[in-house]
Amino acid sequence: MKFKKIHIVLFAIVLVVLVPLFYYLLNVDAVNMGITYLLSGDVTSKNKLIKDGDFSSLYSLLNLDNGGKYQYINSYVSNLGLKPQSIRLTSSGYSDIFVTSKTEPSAVKKVLFVAHYDTYQSGAGALDNLGSVSVLLASLRNLKPRIDSGAVSVLFTTGEEDGLVGSKEFVDSYMINNNLKYDLVINLDCVGGGQPIIVSSSNRTGLLLNFFPFGEIMFDGRKFVGDIIVTKPDHNFDRSKFNVRVVSSIVGYSDTYSFTSKGMNALHLSSDNMKAIMDYSHTHGDTSELLDQNYMDSTKKAVVLIGNNYR
Ligand SMILES: [Zn+2]
Repeated sequence: MKFKKIHIVLFAIVLVVLVPLFYYLLNVDAVNMGITYLLSGDVTSKNKLIKDGDFSSLYSLLNLDNGGKYQYINSYVSNLGLKPQSIRLTSSGYSDIFVTSKTEPSAVKKVLFVAHYDTYQSGAGALDNLGSVSVLLASLRNLKPRIDSGAVSVLFTTGEEDGLVGSKEFVDSYMINNNLKYDLVINLDCVGGGQPIIVSSSNRTGLLLNFFPFGEIMFDGRKFVGDIIVTKPDHNFDRSKFNVRVVSSIVGYSDTYSFTSKGMNALHLSSDNMKAIMDYSHTHGDTSELLDQNYMDSTKKAVVLIGNNYR
């Protein structure tokens, strides 16, 4: 077959006009993440977690029920010379665990790190969300001077899987009753399955697509849904400063929402393995196999960097 001039012109139009237009209209990050999602097959990690390494707490936590996890986190924190406080929830028998210092100089900018320790089902929940808990536990030693000075606090919530119960009570009553304010809240959920990224806080989890001029719609791995509330992260909070990428086309529903829905500056720290997050969280397949030692290391690095340098 011989190419006619019209073919070359059409090809040029597609290449120069339609492809960039397509990317613009659909949002580049979302398209890239969507393609990655569709093409990724095996989601298990390449660099297996070192069992007795920095994140060994994960293996202990995976075998415990929620009450056991509560005990484990409490003694882990106490053994570091920190004082964990229990915030008993009125709506359930369980408690949040709050690691903070009594000395709170008002001149210092305050950061709160959050991760929920409850899991959707016992025996699973490595990605969602015991990986995040073990990252925070492993970071405590590095953050201790900042915790002692009152600049950094850490909150392990429960009841996230039952509708953000623990974080809601913390925001709606504990923070108010104790007059607590934070300049930055970082909530970790589903970290360690991929590169650490800051995503949008939302009332749903999935990929955000912008169908201009119709507005934003979300793909959750199975279906497209509208009716979403999205708080996009601050893009100044970037890799150059804290070694973490901001991807606002991924939206995550987590404890972050308890803070952003009240207008607080809260960021959702997750990972860019959407396949693992959308297909495996809340299933028995959410095992330690989904977590990668290198990604866990870089997430911890980001947490320590933020905790020690946000001011
Ligand atoms: Zn979660």
